[in-house]
Amino acid sequence: MIRDEKSLVLVANCGRLIRAYLRQVLSLEERDVVCLPTVQDSISATKRQAIDLILVDVDSCSSTDDRRWVELIVAADQRNIPTIVMSSLSTAEHKAFWLNKGAADFISKPLAKLALLARTESHLRARTRSNSLAATNKELSQKVKQLERLAITDGLTGLYNHRFFQERLKAELRRARRHGTQLSLAMCDIDHFKRVNDVFGHQSGDAVLGSISRVLKDICRASDLPARYGGEEFIVILPETNTKAAYAAVERMRGSIQALEFSDSRNKSFSVTASFGIATLEACMRSPSDLIECVDSGLYMAKQSGRNRTVIYGSQRAGKLGIIE
Ligand code: GH3
Ligand code: MG
Ligand code: MG
Repeated sequence: MIRDEKSLVLVANCGRLIRAYLRQVLSLEERDVVCLPTVQDSISATKRQAIDLILVDVDSCSSTDDRRWVELIVAADQRNIPTIVMSSLSTAEHKAFWLNKGAADFISKPLAKLALLARTESHLRARTRSNSLAATNKELSQKVKQLERLAITDGLTGLYNHRFFQERLKAELRRARRHGTQLSLAMCDIDHFKRVNDVFGHQSGDAVLGSISRVLKDICRASDLPARYGGEEFIVILPETNTKAAYAAVERMRGSIQALEFSDSRNKSFSVTASFGIATLEACMRSPSDLIECVDSGLYMAKQSGRNRTVIYGSQRAGKLGIIE
């Protein structure tokens, strides 16, 4: 049978004789007992100490003195601590009064030892079960949060993963359309990354991916969403950002990537560069994949025209910014 060895019982508002009697009876089950005479002390004890059960002696629900104990019963009920009301008055109205206020049980005086022990132990068992359920629930909800985080995170870089990026892009596109705001997308691909792996080793390659991810995170605003798009490709959603602002942010990213210094396992130092494409949402783009296609072709142009540069999709067509190194 489930049993918590450390249960503490609060005995409230009892005269000397009943206190002594309750101590003696509860000691048979080795329960710890604390006795308090006032409502306020009893309420503070429920907040300060790990009280598992309250026994309160109230003779009449019509006396103002006894009615003050309602406050304790309500406070205990809010904390899921069961209260047993002990009373020499056992009319149905009297019982109903205390039970309706939140008492878990009602025992008539004089208190018979066996019945008293059976009731207190039954409430303590229920309390232990409910405590362990609450602990399991807390553990489960922490695990769910952890799993939710893992499900949207890329393991190597700590950035959001491809799936989460796709979800967010859909949502951001809807939001931009609804509010008539600008939305830009930037795609990044590390230049000659295969060579980095081949020359400096796969672990160095992984370290490069980690550092570049940190650069993207650092430069992004809180409202931007940087994600790992694929192997050595990253993507950043820039909500409420026009082409010019996106270009400025991306150029800072590109500059910071170029400035990173790495060293391999034999202390050989090296650096890397990356190419970027940028596309800004236009009325003719129907879906997230249209915008992705555009940013991808900007990136393709950046690679084609020599790497380590940023190309804004459509810039040549519009004869504006062109290819920017
Ligand atoms: P380009 O400038 O045209 O982009 O050349 P590239 O070598 O970067 O492109 P390519 O597509 O030929 O090679 C990409 C490389 O990225 C090959 C692959 O092994 C490497 N890669 C992909 N994912 C990871 C990873 O998680 N860790 C490491 N270390 N390398 C990765
Ligand atoms: Mg690539
Ligand atoms: Mg590459």
